[in-house]
Amino acid sequence: MSSHKTIHVGGEWRSALSGATREILDPADAKPFAVIAEGGAEDADAAIAAARAAFDQGPWPRTPVAERAALLRRVAGLLRRDREELGLLESRDAGKTVEEGRVDIDCVADAFVYFADLVAAEGAGRVVDAGTDTVHSVVVHEPVGVCALITPWNYPLLQASWKIAPALAAGNTFVVKPSEITPMTTVALIGLLVEAGLPAGVANIVTGPGHSVGARFAEHPDVDLVSFTGGLVSGTKVAQAAAVGVKKVALELGGKNPNVVFADACATDEGFDTAVDQALNAAFIHSGQVCSAGSRLIIEESVRERFVAELARRAAKIRLGRGTEDGVECGPLVSEQQRAKTEGYVASALEEGAVLVTGGQRPEPSGIRPATGYFYEPTVLDHCHRGMRVVREEVFGPVLTVETFRTEDEAVALANDTEYGLAGAVWTADAGRARRVAGRLRHGTVWINDFHPYLPQAEWGGFGKSGVGRELGPAGLAEYRESKHVYQNLDPRPVRWFAG
Ligand code: NAD
Repeated sequence: MSSHKTIHVGGEWRSALSGATREILDPADAKPFAVIAEGGAEDADAAIAAARAAFDQGPWPRTPVAERAALLRRVAGLLRRDREELGLLESRDAGKTVEEGRVDIDCVADAFVYFADLVAAEGAGRVVDAGTDTVHSVVVHEPVGVCALITPWNYPLLQASWKIAPALAAGNTFVVKPSEITPMTTVALIGLLVEAGLPAGVANIVTGPGHSVGARFAEHPDVDLVSFTGGLVSGTKVAQAAAVGVKKVALELGGKNPNVVFADACATDEGFDTAVDQALNAAFIHSGQVCSAGSRLIIEESVRERFVAELARRAAKIRLGRGTEDGVECGPLVSEQQRAKTEGYVASALEEGAVLVTGGQRPEPSGIRPATGYFYEPTVLDHCHRGMRVVREEVFGPVLTVETFRTEDEAVALANDTEYGLAGAVWTADAGRARRVAGRLRHGTVWINDFHPYLPQAEWGGFGKSGVGRELGPAGLAEYRESKHVYQNLDPRPVRWFAG
């Protein structure tokens, strides 16, 4: 990586055309651990030209599906071979624990296998009954073309793989721009795609900022599809730019996800312990920097006091530190900017009347928490309400707000009272209530008595301002394909619509 050649265009590793570079910081101590190429719009143009040529003239879009699937499976094998190295790299880059990094890499490999299996299992097309023997009608799927993929910093390789795997399975070529602060594992993945035998020009990466490289991807006339994962503000800009060229657009944006706990879920000690434990996990894993984080605890009034007290007791015991250290349960936030944003939300919540139960500050530095790292304590804010910014807006930090309800209707109304709609959970021992509430929640994923699991076979995405389209599942492949209806008349004759 010391050569700064982290831009891959048309099968070649390059520096930025301008020669610019960027230091990549370890969020645990804010010290640089790598230097990458800082690409610009001109690098984006070169990458798009390479992807365009590979799509229009190269073999990949016409490669038989079985061969494409075999390549994807080889990539999964290489990811598993390099699991330790990649898990560690993800941990250093994004600040997560190494164990989280390893889990991410397993999930990335699973995504490649899932999309390989999905395309391999398909037939040659869907025959349509035209109602007559003289017509053969079939609907086939074809790749969209050149896909521009833009990804965030919280799950760098996982979010990239949810785009790259289906894009390749469908026969597209692509340009990818990882987050400028966490590009390392996506650069490494491009190396694995090359090693697996992907033809030159199919996979291109430009490391660089959103305002130049990302914006160029979204507006470029030779791009056919833009798939973006990130925040609402940049996602809106991407959608606007893409609309000018009438490109296909997929957006995976933020969330403000409710975790609804009914008192009956806490009726036994075991039920209480499970609901508390999972509420903790929902809100604080990866320091809350998760699009589907359960950052709004919506709890039945009768159990609030006991639940919040136990939650706070356990939150205060979470071991914060460098993600690569043994025993550390939570790493730092990804950047000083992200920590300052979190602190701003906590300050505004306290001004608006929230009660700080635990956290709310930077922890004391220690051997595992260098003073220069971007650490922030897991924070619980009680007595919150929808009037507060911290309840309405995505914090993307370790901050859990507590709201209460008395009736089922009130719980559902609170859970749906968000402009987002990515994910939510309901905790109850009553099976009928679980079904009713799950049915009424306006969120793309609903968990019953659980939080966070997802399956590659099941669609992921959001209602409302959480996005447009879906990743994973059959719909996650469909995003990267065009449907084509081929209607063949087996007995052509004049139609005589026009008499003359
Ligand atoms: P971000 O919007 O700041 O950046 C995301 C990506 O977009 C980065 O690569 C960035 O460089 C690029 N970008 C920024 N401005 C751009 C522009 N004008 N044109 C094109 N590209 C641009 O988001 P982030 O801070 O990196 O990530 C956090 C956000 O991602 C959160 O809102 C989180 O909820 C969301 N997210 C959503 C999902 C999901 O599945 N829905 C998953 C992970 C993260």
